[in-house]
Amino acid sequence: MATTAEIQVASAKSYIAGKWADSRGSRRVERRNPADSNDVVGSITLATREDARQAIAAAQAAFPAWKRTSPITRGKLVMKVAQIMAARVNELAAMLTREEGKTLSESRGEILRSINVLEFIAGEARTLGGEVLPSELPKNFAYTLRVPLGVVSCITPWNFPVAIPVWKIAPALVGGNTVVFKPATTTAFTAMMVVSMFEEAGVPAGVLNMVVGAGSDVGDELVTNPAVRAISFTGSNEVGNGVYRGGANRGVRVQCEMGGKNPIIVLADADLDLAVASTVQGAFGSTGQRCTATSRAVVEESIADEFVRRVRDAAQKLKVGNGAEAGVMVGPIVDEKQFSTVLKYLEVGKQEGATVVCGGSKLTGGAYDRGLFVAPTIFDHVKPTMRVATEEIFGPVLSVIRVRNFDEAMQVANGVAYGLSSAIYTRDASRIFDFVDEIDTGIVHINSPTTGGEAHVPFGGMKATGVGQREQGTVALDFFTEIKAVYVDYTGTKREGNLY
Ligand code: NAD
Repeated sequence: MATTAEIQVASAKSYIAGKWADSRGSRRVERRNPADSNDVVGSITLATREDARQAIAAAQAAFPAWKRTSPITRGKLVMKVAQIMAARVNELAAMLTREEGKTLSESRGEILRSINVLEFIAGEARTLGGEVLPSELPKNFAYTLRVPLGVVSCITPWNFPVAIPVWKIAPALVGGNTVVFKPATTTAFTAMMVVSMFEEAGVPAGVLNMVVGAGSDVGDELVTNPAVRAISFTGSNEVGNGVYRGGANRGVRVQCEMGGKNPIIVLADADLDLAVASTVQGAFGSTGQRCTATSRAVVEESIADEFVRRVRDAAQKLKVGNGAEAGVMVGPIVDEKQFSTVLKYLEVGKQEGATVVCGGSKLTGGAYDRGLFVAPTIFDHVKPTMRVATEEIFGPVLSVIRVRNFDEAMQVANGVAYGLSSAIYTRDASRIFDFVDEIDTGIVHINSPTTGGEAHVPFGGMKATGVGQREQGTVALDFFTEIKAVYVDYTGTKREGNLY
């Protein structure tokens, strides 16, 4: 049976108190397929601050009953979403590719990861307990409970519009919170499908709400409204730092996962075939629009010529085009804004004196003229201080930095503000463990690409990339629950003295 959301998918709506509704706002935006501007995905009347307030009020009203619902029942709902998503994977992947641009196989990969997250978090519901502790006094004990926070906001970016909402919403709900979710408007239709799966699974009215609107009013309301007890944000540093300040001003819990500039170190003894394949996948997969994308290759000088030649040969073989077409390996850039950012950085790299090994411009002619396509680009002889070596580009652009030895490689790898993911390619066990000890990133890969992660393993970054607790893994539930400490005295007599 089609859900309400499916029927109305050409016009994006908000989902408030169990109903799909148009905003009363006046700002209307259109979403077009980034691979083909003739293909209109749909139009969105942007929600207003008042819509966001209604969604928060609906979540507040639904909280007492949801809090009292057994965690096991909450987990079963999340498991049902996993089953629905598995049954609707092709439909969801088609929308994700059409709206965001990644290839169909990348879309399916993102959805499978989301299903893993749903299954893992659903299982965690059965062990959502605290601990029992001994007391200093006889006939006393202490125990802890994990209790929900209340209404929580989940604010997400466009680049993983299924997985990131899922890895926030699922632990928030299992923890007993009610949610107001604000997707990026760029990928509102994919977000609607995700929410429709929670609806189909039977989420009670008001427990999960979605508001599709601009960050400056809807997003701001989700950060500043006094009824919101925690904010889980993923996106840029520019926005995330403001979200963090907004939460801190009210003394509420905030987690922000933000930008990256992830290095892959390739030492002279590396398996070069493996290092090259991983660099190409990490730099150009998902069109470089992943927070864990490989954007810097830090390579020992003695093998750098060979490494660059091989990465260039592989990059030039990548078929760029509409991600819905068979054989395409690199899709378009998501929208005009991001397209102009990537093109700007291509010029910055040239002006800074980096050598363009391949790519370096947008792709034109034929079907390329209807989309936002950039040729996979390699800059060589990049200096560690150049902007293309330090700033997040978020496109299919790799900067190669040549170094004399491992120590210099570590200095370069750690020499940026960000700290999300990293990788090293070497056969030397000492170097591997030195790297693990010294690299300042939240995710560390040994002889595997900077991208990727698993549902039950914590995910997040250090330094400017992340503030607050990690996402995914069991720690995801730490963010979405409070600990309550309970003391039980069963002596039945007045206690002598105090506990300190
Ligand atoms: P963005 O910061 O522009 O937007 C993220 C979300 O915040 C959107 O929903 C947006 O509408 C909302 N927003 C905007 N202004 C707001 C405000 N004032 N108050 C509250 N919300 C507001 O990011 P984007 O362009 O959608 O995504 C790309 C960025 O996301 C990149 O920097 C990338 O590295 C980062 N990212 C990080 C991770 C991670 O886990 N570290 C994962 C994916 C993406």
